[in-house]
Amino acid sequence: MRQIDHFMPTASPAPARTHKVWNPSTGEVQAEVVLGDAALLDAAVATAQSVQPAWAATNPQKRARVMFKFKELVETNMQSLAEMLSSEHGKTVDDAKGDVQRGLEVIEYACGIPQVLKGEYTQGAGPGIDVYSVRQPLGIGAGITPFNFPAMIPMWMFGMAIAVGNAFILKPSERDPSVPVRLAELFIEAGAPEGLLQVIHGDKVMVDAILDHPAISAVSFVGSSDIAHYVYRRGAENGKRIQAMGGAKNHGIVMPDADLDQVVNDLAGAAFGSAGERCMALPVVVPVGEDTANKLREKLIPAINALRIGVSNDPDAHYGPVVTPEHKARIEQWITTAEEEGAEIVIDGRGFSLQGHEDGFFVGPTLIDQVTPTMASYQEEIFGPVLQMVRANDFEDALRLPSEHQYGNGVAIFTRNGHAAREFASRVNVGMVGINVPIPVPVAYHSFGGWKRSGFGDIDQYGTEGLAFWTKRKKVTQRWPDGGGDGSNAFVIPTMG
Ligand code: NAD
Repeated sequence: MRQIDHFMPTASPAPARTHKVWNPSTGEVQAEVVLGDAALLDAAVATAQSVQPAWAATNPQKRARVMFKFKELVETNMQSLAEMLSSEHGKTVDDAKGDVQRGLEVIEYACGIPQVLKGEYTQGAGPGIDVYSVRQPLGIGAGITPFNFPAMIPMWMFGMAIAVGNAFILKPSERDPSVPVRLAELFIEAGAPEGLLQVIHGDKVMVDAILDHPAISAVSFVGSSDIAHYVYRRGAENGKRIQAMGGAKNHGIVMPDADLDQVVNDLAGAAFGSAGERCMALPVVVPVGEDTANKLREKLIPAINALRIGVSNDPDAHYGPVVTPEHKARIEQWITTAEEEGAEIVIDGRGFSLQGHEDGFFVGPTLIDQVTPTMASYQEEIFGPVLQMVRANDFEDALRLPSEHQYGNGVAIFTRNGHAAREFASRVNVGMVGINVPIPVPVAYHSFGGWKRSGFGDIDQYGTEGLAFWTKRKKVTQRWPDGGGDGSNAFVIPTMG
């Protein structure tokens, strides 16, 4: 069986434990990933400590050159990275390219690090007094990432953390670990010193070791909410800086004046793309008024029935399998729960089987109507190709649903009415808002982060917030008195030469 190892310069001991890596399209185990422990982390930290000071002392232009070269190498390797990603995750190859590309945009931002790190200066803050602020690296940062964006989310984190002068230890999801390792290889090929970016695999054992390690200053986590909350609490208890992004249940509000054909088209991609395994997917649609709901439902049914499910390297597939057999079972169980709760299963994706790939982890597209806010299937994240419809009476009703939901990652409103859109964007209690944009992931020079149980900690990912997270700010107040009097301590203007 192929073994996926840690990526670190020191030799890792024979693994005591491993974890299966599936090919979700065929249902076969294609590799096993080794799982590390606290002793392995100690070795990685020692390496990181040995290389970080020199990296921090490297001028920012030179650090940026590594970022530029890395970006070029990732672009050159795009096809093979996307195929590798797709084969472990199950998303289509095109979708996998998007995963890599969105991460690269943060690397592009990090290429501008000399400009971003310039700092602030006030001359004459008092008599003869100047004040300046600089941002210094923290030392060693760590990232713990989910299975659903194995390229983008690691790049969100290490792109910023390393560009500002930190060493970085990445613990990717054990379900699709190959792409993070490949990215780290390319990073070293781009000219980064060995040991600056290390990838160590593991599960809760390794996560706890990271959260408890005294030499790791900051931890960025992305994953499900209960674990995000745990990471936030345990890391903060140990005095670390923590950002922990959690789960989501994003709503798409459809006003009566919306262009319904456009909405249906957007929903087909946003609810079912990547088999719904996106934290910015739109799994809940909220039509405003019965008339809007009925018209939308009529248009959605044929569009959903026309979706093509295929193996992840089928170029015509709209989406592929879900990540593991356990996740498939969990999604199907949520559909059953919705049915038991009294919702109407309009299109049922349970028991879907793809001809020729009967062992793959496929779930058919599912549409559920007559969902109400008290149902558990509405309150919890399903994370599959399942679209739930909650009918709202009016605008205020629609605004309340995402605002009162436990998650607050993203939300979208579809309307032609600027006033309604503006009012919605200003009042909704959710972190990222789309106006006629179904998946409003902010570009790299803005920052990404949800509210409520979608994000623990107060600093977002990437952009200026990423800069703030991965650096500490030093404030210097200086005064250089004239020596005066007898001239013994007089100020001497240095001469060149
Ligand atoms: P997950 O919470 O199962 O795993 C995330 C990470 O935590 C992995 O590295 C995993 O190894 C580790 N982990 C697993 N169990 C653990 C435990 N008991 N203790 C400590 N660490 C543990 O998440 P996932 O299934 O890989 O990813 C999907 C989830 O991530 C969804 O809830 C999705 O909404 C969320 N997500 C959120 C965002 C965001 O930005 N808000 C982005 C992507 C994904």
